[in-house]
Amino acid sequence: MSFGTSRPNRNISNDEAVRGTNDDATISKLSAVNLGYLEDKFARYFVKRGTRRPPIINRGSFVRTRFLDSLLQLFIDSSTEKKQVVSLGAGSDTRYFLLKEAKQNPHLYIEIDFPEVTSRKLATIYKNPELKRLLPEDAKLGNGGTELYSSDYILLSGDLRRFTEDLVPRLQELGCDFSLPTMFLSECVLIYLDPIYSDKIVLWAVESAPKSMFVTYEQILPDDPFGQMMIRNLELRDIKLRGLHAYPDLASQEERYLQKGWRFAKALDIQELHEHYISSSEKARIAKLEFLDELEEWNLLAKHYCIAYALTFPEESKEQSPFKDICFQKL
Ligand code: SAH
Repeated sequence: MSFGTSRPNRNISNDEAVRGTNDDATISKLSAVNLGYLEDKFARYFVKRGTRRPPIINRGSFVRTRFLDSLLQLFIDSSTEKKQVVSLGAGSDTRYFLLKEAKQNPHLYIEIDFPEVTSRKLATIYKNPELKRLLPEDAKLGNGGTELYSSDYILLSGDLRRFTEDLVPRLQELGCDFSLPTMFLSECVLIYLDPIYSDKIVLWAVESAPKSMFVTYEQILPDDPFGQMMIRNLELRDIKLRGLHAYPDLASQEERYLQKGWRFAKALDIQELHEHYISSSEKARIAKLEFLDELEEWNLLAKHYCIAYALTFPEESKEQSPFKDICFQKL
């Protein structure tokens, strides 16, 4: 029996810290929006007090968001079939609202997060008519105000560590059809899970959603000095990147999918995406927004984050698949 250790319930405090990373992501997004890097008229509703982030963070948010948006748009445009998006650890992501306003939303957009996060998100949505008006008329709250069900948007509360046991049966109950083309999105989320849990999700997706796409954004390169500093800084806040050593570089990020049966996988770091996949006109536009003189720091930071995507299309080759045009496109 142990008495009053300094951290009596380590797991719970760690989950709380992980939930807090959503506020960081949202504040960073808003900083990039306010400076003109990105357009997102809904981001401000999810931030109590905005802060201007340093230029390298703003540039990082810009590259991350633009390429994830681009992959999502390519998925939506890939065929005329009905489609689903499942956003794992969606936090305060506004993509459903942006797509809905642009009348580009998929057949069903599902978001999952801890109840503490989903209830706050719902309170924000219901408080702001600009957001609420975009919900379908049949939207109704459930599970003590931690969930929302509707014909085109579902917000589900739960723990991704119990994805197959708890969340999948609920998704099926709520009308998700995994025979439809489905995109799973994990923007800075799976990295917080022990790989036992994240691997289970990635494997379930390839086995149960035959026409699917998986997209992750997360940290890599734990072993160099910058990587070690990144880990230390987060540990000071009680945040552990539990998946970092399992998928520490671009090659292992791709292997993560191929090993489990995905047919195609590609991972690129943020530095490479910025350098080679952003057009010179777009680079010139952001260069005017604010002065970035910490080039060395930018390169270091940007090498430690990557976007990976994987595709599955069991019956066809990539050339014939509806997903054939999905790739990192020049922006
Ligand atoms: N994807 C969003 C938020 C990233 S922050 C964005 O990029 O803006 C990480 C999010 O993952 C948080 O909202 C956190 O609550 C959620 N998360 C982490 N582990 C989780 C788990 N085990 N179950 C459910 N949600 C989890």
